[in-house]
Amino acid sequence: MNYQQQAEKVLMKTYNRFPIVLDHGDGVYLYDVDDKKYLDFGSGIAVFALGYNQKEYNQALKDQMDKLIHTSNLYYNVPAIEAGTKIVESTGLDKVFFTNSGTEAIEGAIKLARKYAYEKDPTKEYELIAMEHGFHGRSQGALSVTGTKKYREGMIPKGISAVFATFNDLEDVKNKINEKTCAIITEVVQGEGGIYPAKQEFLTGLRELCDEHDILLIFDEIQCGMGRCGAMYAHELYGAKPDVMTLAKALGCGVPVGAFVASEKCSHTLVPGDHGTTYGGNPLATCAVSKVYDLFEKLNIVDHVKEVGTYLGEKLDVLTQKYDMIKEHRGLGLIHGLELMEQVKAQDVIQKALEHGLIILSAGNNTLRFVPPLIIEQHHIDEMISVLEQCLRS
Ligand SMILES: *Cc1c(COP(=O)(O)O)cnc(C)c1O
Repeated sequence: MNYQQQAEKVLMKTYNRFPIVLDHGDGVYLYDVDDKKYLDFGSGIAVFALGYNQKEYNQALKDQMDKLIHTSNLYYNVPAIEAGTKIVESTGLDKVFFTNSGTEAIEGAIKLARKYAYEKDPTKEYELIAMEHGFHGRSQGALSVTGTKKYREGMIPKGISAVFATFNDLEDVKNKINEKTCAIITEVVQGEGGIYPAKQEFLTGLRELCDEHDILLIFDEIQCGMGRCGAMYAHELYGAKPDVMTLAKALGCGVPVGAFVASEKCSHTLVPGDHGTTYGGNPLATCAVSKVYDLFEKLNIVDHVKEVGTYLGEKLDVLTQKYDMIKEHRGLGLIHGLELMEQVKAQDVIQKALEHGLIILSAGNNTLRFVPPLIIEQHHIDEMISVLEQCLRS
């Protein structure tokens, strides 16, 4: 039995996996067990921002492993304090709660928002407003605010579902606010939904609406944050600040870790006993977070993303002009989508690219998604475009 057959025998069939078995990585390249090389424009779904086998990052984790991996949250540990400090300083928000995944960061943010409203008036029932085609994770709470119906259907009781508004339609959100609304949650750039950046007036409008009604604004920056859009956090490009922000994916660059970060207005809402996690904020995960922030600074990641992101954007624009099968190009920084015409299936292009040693992802409705490691260089982009063109032509 080969690896693939063994995997299908023992791993629950919740994914249609591509038929390659990955073994190791270096920089922006991955290698499978047969040593075939792949240029990676997926980063393990926008996770490996610093690329594979980053020596300093690996060494920090090895050192921490020899010291202490886990303590529980009953005690303090130095890496969590250091990582928390770096997040607070870089976000300008007030307090952090570490989780083990993006989904759990969303869960925490939802609980905080409900409690914030409940403290003002415990006699009411509360609901959130979320966006159509938004994605926030797979637990029941995270699904309750996830806009894609097929993810929710049959999975959660109807009663806990949020009210959904049209992304980038401020009037629609305004019309859906009522006395039960406790928070509005949105991605700044919709990732899974197909790479749709928010409009400037939408985000600033949401901020005003939330201030007006004293409800919380939650930005999910799990995919679009951590430098991906050419700013440390995507909302910085819009000048609209959240009350709560969620982070994960590139936050630990490979080690499973997430966080929700709250502003002063609501950072004291959750009190001892309200929320917890055994692993969350453990020294190994937070050592990774801490090192990620150090390396972002040392390697000037955000400036680099601005530069190469512009280049990638231009190249994808050229492709869009050149090929009728490409319907639209959307994106910014190093998160881009090419929506294809119906007659070409994104999955077929991705499969073909894989055969040619290029990893790209899909998103939303027949859209190719490009989320390379943030350390990518222009020549990697040229290499990707040339392979992609071969695939589109054939
Ligand atoms: C991936 C993602 C999540 C879920 O994160 P997990 O770590 O998979 O639980 C939530 N929100 C957004 C925007 C995401 O891209």
